[in-house]
Amino acid sequence: MSEDFTALPGFSRRDGELFCEDLNLRKLADQFGTPLYVYSREALKTALESWLRGISGTKHRVFYAMKANSNLALLKFFRDAGIGFDIVSPGELKRALMVGAKGEDIVYSGVGKSREDIRTALRAGIGCFNVESIPELDRINEVALQEKLLAPISVRVNPDVDAKTHPYISTGLKNNKFGVAYDQTVALYRHAASLPGVQISGIDMHIGSQITELEPFVHAADKIFDIVEQLAQHGITLDHLDFGGGLGVRYTDETPPSAETLVKAVSQKASERGFADLPIYFEPGRSLVARAGVLLTTVEYLKPTQAKNFMIVDAAMNDMVRPTLYQAQMPLVNCTEREQSQQWDVVGPVCETGDFLARSIELAAQPGDVLAMTGAGAYGMSMASNYNSRGRAAEVLVSGSRAWLIRRRETIEELTALENTVPNEAFM
Ligand SMILES: *Cc1c(COP(=O)(O)O)cnc(C)c1O
Repeated sequence: MSEDFTALPGFSRRDGELFCEDLNLRKLADQFGTPLYVYSREALKTALESWLRGISGTKHRVFYAMKANSNLALLKFFRDAGIGFDIVSPGELKRALMVGAKGEDIVYSGVGKSREDIRTALRAGIGCFNVESIPELDRINEVALQEKLLAPISVRVNPDVDAKTHPYISTGLKNNKFGVAYDQTVALYRHAASLPGVQISGIDMHIGSQITELEPFVHAADKIFDIVEQLAQHGITLDHLDFGGGLGVRYTDETPPSAETLVKAVSQKASERGFADLPIYFEPGRSLVARAGVLLTTVEYLKPTQAKNFMIVDAAMNDMVRPTLYQAQMPLVNCTEREQSQQWDVVGPVCETGDFLARSIELAAQPGDVLAMTGAGAYGMSMASNYNSRGRAAEVLVSGSRAWLIRRRETIEELTALENTVPNEAFM
């Protein structure tokens, strides 16, 4: 895996040392300890600006899908930049409200909304529920009537297009749990139109994640516009189209289109189909944050064996699960340049064979060195767990020559604070 920091905004190599903006990453590791997530504000800005250039001069809107990384400091950054949020739980709703988002700037996705979830979102004045099934639509209607509120809804359509990505992150195929079957969509809208507690607002799709080609997006858009036309024939008009997220990023050698290119291609398709005035919502997660983050980890031991060379580091699958969950390949580089690389499996301390950060990669490192995994800003910390009773990593945000601790390291006291023991006598 080649090391090309010229293409990675916010990160650079200076005199052999790796920097995040104007701060030496090895020194940040000394200061805050490892494993440590470090984010570049400059890189967040670069990623956001591509989306903003795409929508400039249009009525289109960007809603950050916060499941990619829901740290409040990052959310505040996006909120201050004026974009909305795509949420999938009441916990995420709370986070959005905590950084000052208004209900109308939030859209609510997900297949399993409980009555309580729906009530909480309605009371917050949610901008739109993205509905994933008939029973969910009926439930939203019921709760809205109880609350004497009107629930704005979009139906998430499963356009049955192949996003050509990893099966675990492909969501727009017939056999996925997401969305409403394409040919049942119009019937569902007609049903929605008869419900007094809901107000039809838009139509929604989201076909997968880490999509690196334009074609699946444009194809899906075409299929959605077919439905919008059919709805119009039934007198159902929409105030927006929600295009979902899913734009991929470069981890190693992928060449995804830029956000700006994607937005323009979709807008172009909308114009061709006669929907130039329809506002389009985008729900990017990964493409806004992935490349703004690195995960720093210290090399503990080198363990060459007859079959393989293992490099044991202090970050593990509980800190970054993407390599083992999605077979994701993420570059790992030494913060300090060294000679004589060898092939290594880079593994963590967790007691699982699946606990690896990278397999068979070329790397030159010694115990005590700090490695940086690039592209770690999305689906890293937000998917971290406490497996093996490991406290989750700390997170730092860098801007220029300043660093802020935006989440401190979890302690064992915090991990056990919610648990109670039961005295043995209780079982007699
Ligand atoms: C996960 C998700 C997103 C964001 O996907 P990315 O691939 O991170 O851009 C957007 N919308 C919905 C409904 C999602 O589930």
